[in-house]
Amino acid sequence: MNILDKLKHGKILLSDGAWGTFLQEKGLKPGECPELWNITHRSEVRDIAESYLLAGSDIIETNSFGGSIFKLSQYGLEGRVSELNQAAAAISREAAGNDRHVAGSVGPSGKMLLMGDITENELYDGFCQQVTALEKGGADIIIVETMSALDEASLAVRAARENTKCTVIVTMTFSGDNKGDFRTMMGVSPEEMVIAMKEAGAHIVGSNCGNGIEDMISITRAIRRTDNTIPVMIQANAGIPEYIDGKTVFRESPEMMASFIPDLIKTGASIIGGCCGTTPEHIRAMGRAMVKA
Ligand SMILES: [Zn+2]
Repeated sequence: MNILDKLKHGKILLSDGAWGTFLQEKGLKPGECPELWNITHRSEVRDIAESYLLAGSDIIETNSFGGSIFKLSQYGLEGRVSELNQAAAAISREAAGNDRHVAGSVGPSGKMLLMGDITENELYDGFCQQVTALEKGGADIIIVETMSALDEASLAVRAARENTKCTVIVTMTFSGDNKGDFRTMMGVSPEEMVIAMKEAGAHIVGSNCGNGIEDMISITRAIRRTDNTIPVMIQANAGIPEYIDGKTVFRESPEMMASFIPDLIKTGASIIGGCCGTTPEHIRAMGRAMVKA
């Protein structure tokens, strides 16, 4: 069944957890291109996908967050965009089979339209190349994630809507001030996101990264104030990263994150997973909490 039909029938879906921090655990070195691992370390990448499927994920992502030409060119891999994205989706599809969903991950380009780094056409074309390769590799969803600028997110969503048959999700990264007002790095509020992303054609909106799970409840509430019907996806970090002895530490335990799931669902989130620092154990605990909620 199409994911949108499942959501229409009231299903709550479990997504997956972190890929970046998981790849580092498997030996990805700083300065190494994560997406090249889809070719050079295929079995390690597949192992990540399988770990999340075993934990109960209904949706798994792909190792393609930095797979746009803009990011790959930093490694001299600009000629391999299609190959690396197609491989990313193929690995996740192979692991997921046909019953579960594969969401092709599209992260920010690192370029800013506002600063004149790039033109709209260049950005759109770059995202087109990435999303069509992800669909070709087997993705049935495109997830545009960790976005902070509305113009860039809109172009990525449009590229996916206009050039693939995939369901399109967009999630942005917010941080809150002490009054509970949430904005992206570029000053976008959750309310502004919903309006602009619906206009661009997104089927599902939400938030990922930046926050632990508790703040995601406030963000979901802000989205719901603006729109009562669009499905909301939330992928929280295992807390805000702390740097201790030169290492990044995420403090939210699987149990702690799971304890917020009932409230998150009540507020209106219907696809829930994790971002940085979350592991298959976090996903498993969240899945259990969903069944009970
Ligand atoms: Zn994250």
